Amino acid sequence: MSNDWKPRTKAVHAGTRRSQYNEVSEAVFLTQGFVYDSAEQAEARFQSLGDDEFIYARYGNPTVRMFEDRIASLLGYEDCFACTSGMAAVSGALTALLKAGDHVVAARALFGSCLYVLEDILARFGVEVTLIDGTDNAAWDAALRPDTRLVFFESISNPTLEVVDMRHVVEKAHAVGALVVADDAMATPVFSYAAACGADIAIVSTTKHVDGQGRLLGGAICGAKDLIRGPIEAYMKHTGGAMNPFTAWTHLKGLETIDLRVRAQSDAAYRLADALADHPQVAAVRYPTHPAHPQHALAQAQAASGGTVLSLEVKGGKEACFRFLNALEIVTISNNFADAKSIATHPATTTHQRLTQDQKDVLGISPGLVRLSAGLEDVDDLIADLIQALDRLN
Ligand SMILES: *Cc1c(COP(=O)(O)O)cnc(C)c1O
Repeated sequence: MSNDWKPRTKAVHAGTRRSQYNEVSEAVFLTQGFVYDSAEQAEARFQSLGDDEFIYARYGNPTVRMFEDRIASLLGYEDCFACTSGMAAVSGALTALLKAGDHVVAARALFGSCLYVLEDILARFGVEVTLIDGTDNAAWDAALRPDTRLVFFESISNPTLEVVDMRHVVEKAHAVGALVVADDAMATPVFSYAAACGADIAIVSTTKHVDGQGRLLGGAICGAKDLIRGPIEAYMKHTGGAMNPFTAWTHLKGLETIDLRVRAQSDAAYRLADALADHPQVAAVRYPTHPAHPQHALAQAQAASGGTVLSLEVKGGKEACFRFLNALEIVTISNNFADAKSIATHPATTTHQRLTQDQKDVLGISPGLVRLSAGLEDVDDLIADLIQALDRLN
């Protein structure tokens, strides 16, 4: 039944489980453990767990399960394991699925912490990682090998907004028997195309659009039941990265409004890109589905929207960029995105400060690059704020 629902209906209703009180709003089950009617029932639960049976919150919890079912349904996957953060989901999924001697191909335009997991942690455990230009289909073809176990990329990269041709990568990866893991944070759960393109696993930092109001960290690993309730659950439940019930409850409320919020913020991001593209103090604007983006045709073919984030290259390097940021009156300076409040980030000195100059150059993280996350304010106010700050650079 619920499989036929449209996404907005799923985001409000999928996964709902009611207690004996028949509450309207989902209950938050703040409990670590569960009581058994008899010793025999406890023994049976430890032998095999039914769908609505729980034994310990590190393994599963009714509120968390509602959230897992709801977001899996929204993204078009069979199942989900909810985690403490987006990075717990990324590191958990990769560690659960890989072993020493495996080969991984990954796009190099990655969130700093993802790069650390791939380059430092996995390498330490004997996994060979080949980093490539994820926008170059020929580079994927050349890097994939018969022993490639897994490929990893951000559907849309943070902060440079590069777009991966997901159908191509999935087809080529599956041809060598590799699993495809997409970090789907920037694509947003509303416009996600990972399932439609055949990605085996989509990882969502639910800290971003699912919370949407800058409160709680969370992550979700979505995929087929045999992967999620197989190696992923086994790894996550024994290593302790399960989402807490209060976060899951807040996320359930977040999903009820996510469609409205993300559509409004995505429209705002497009309008900001449009309004800033021709400003004399702006060298370049990037938003995946905007004509100013070199890959906009691919982005448009894959998704109805490019998400809630755009980037701009301010002329005059770091000095001008800082003056621009300091002149903003509505847009806040922070390093998060997907908040109801619009946020400007200077990646080169904050989120990507750790990278060497060479790495920054290769990734295009220049001193003038600003990542802008469009919030829920009136778009005309945002445009006016950004333009007044740019105008001061003259
Ligand atoms: C934010 C982010 C993460 C990490 O998520 P947290 O919830 O902060 O741990 C991973 N990947 C991408 C692309 C992100 O934007």
